[in-house]
Amino acid sequence: MQDNKSEVSLEDIVSLCKRRGFIFPGSEVYGGLSGTWDYGPLGVTLKRNIMNLWWKTFVEDREDMVGVDAAILMNQKVWQASGHVDTFTDPLVECSNCKSRFREDQIDTAKCPTCGKTGTFGEARQFNMMFETKIGPTANVLGEIKATRQEVESMLKIFDDEKTEEITLPVNTDLRDAVGASTVFLRPETAQGIFTNFKNVVDTLYPDLPFGIAQQGKAFRNEISPRDFVFRSREFEQMEIEYFVHPEKWEESFEMLRLAIHDWCNLLGLPETAVHELEVEQDDRAHYSKRTIDFEFDFPIGRKELLGLAYRTDFDLGNIERVSGKNMKYTPKAGGKPFIPHVIEPSFGVERTIMAVLTSAYKVDEVNSEKRVYLALPDNIAPVKYVVGPLLKNKPELVAKAREVYAGLKKKHGAVLWDDNANIGKRYRRADEIGVPYCVVIDFDSLTDNAVTVRDRNTTEQKRVSIDEIIG
Ligand code: ATP
Repeated sequence: MQDNKSEVSLEDIVSLCKRRGFIFPGSEVYGGLSGTWDYGPLGVTLKRNIMNLWWKTFVEDREDMVGVDAAILMNQKVWQASGHVDTFTDPLVECSNCKSRFREDQIDTAKCPTCGKTGTFGEARQFNMMFETKIGPTANVLGEIKATRQEVESMLKIFDDEKTEEITLPVNTDLRDAVGASTVFLRPETAQGIFTNFKNVVDTLYPDLPFGIAQQGKAFRNEISPRDFVFRSREFEQMEIEYFVHPEKWEESFEMLRLAIHDWCNLLGLPETAVHELEVEQDDRAHYSKRTIDFEFDFPIGRKELLGLAYRTDFDLGNIERVSGKNMKYTPKAGGKPFIPHVIEPSFGVERTIMAVLTSAYKVDEVNSEKRVYLALPDNIAPVKYVVGPLLKNKPELVAKAREVYAGLKKKHGAVLWDDNANIGKRYRRADEIGVPYCVVIDFDSLTDNAVTVRDRNTTEQKRVSIDEIIG
């Protein structure tokens, strides 16, 4: 064996993911849908393993965290109060020649990346990235419109504002469409579902401060130019924590979470040298944030944001209290004045985590003078834990014994594959490429010594292990 080459290109990862059933382009059979991705049999398992490990690490193994699972569709007031309706925007520029659209800060606007013409971009427009949809049967197909008093009143307000006696509504426009009351947004982050449940959690569990509420789930952003495989998608998955603290003690919790993030990266096998902290300057931070660190990773596309850690003060709970009129204060158990807790938010993106994991795990070496590609995935997230098979598939006694071992391992680990195709060398290569830590082969000796050959993916070493030991 020779030393690993750690250099991996995005094409290597994309091609492995497609070839071996990790990740496919979304709606591919119909020509795709930009910014969407589908997870295949191995991808869904890898993704779930990562998300479950995160839940175990940040929620189950700790005393100071609980979880929630809020609805994706939320009352639009959530996004008004949080500022997303007004400010969740990216600068959009359009080429006057070929009409291609880009995020201004992602290109050199001197020359259009699509048609190559110079000087074709004008001023950027602010483009809101939230996906908007309607709730309920909004088309006027039933011949009657039901609306609340509030909706009618706001409709009348439009008349007042426009100083007109008459408004022409498009055919099929429902009154609720016209007043915008039926508009809902697909959540662009999971965080708000945590904030809106803060009071519910406090009223039901009354946790000691500081404590965190965690949530995992889908988020949607109408990115102007989705790119770089799953790195910038329009539909993706987040794992977020809102960690509520006393305003005077935010610094110690921030430090605790900063270290916990490094431990998490270690757990995933990300090399410490590839994870970097970027202290975000005041001018680049959200106005309410007193400190933000972007955790960046050396992806094949360069050093980019993997996840974020932000001190958000009492901005979110304060806004909810202001807009909803509901009390968001926490009453200290030891007595004292109720106050709105401050919050520290670690925000992890699942897709970027998967890309970082694959980048770190992708190795190339040489075995028996042949190039070998393998994924050195940590055992706890590898989608398949063992591959099992008989040395020869036409020997019934070997197959029977191998089936016994397979059944035992499957009962114990779940994610175990049967492979009796082709010669052992080829089986090892297939298993290596999808990151299976161990291959188990049942040979003629197994029939008498009740032992099997276990081959280690990383070292390619083989050892004899008793069947009782591996399935016991
Ligand atoms: P960027 O600056 O790269 O657009 P962001 O600062 O807007 O990212 P946040 O709003 O902080 O990202 O979201 C938290 C995390 O969610 C990010 O660190 C990232 O891991 C993930 N994330 C955000 N947008 C996307 C996306 N379009 N596709 C995949 N993951 C994303």
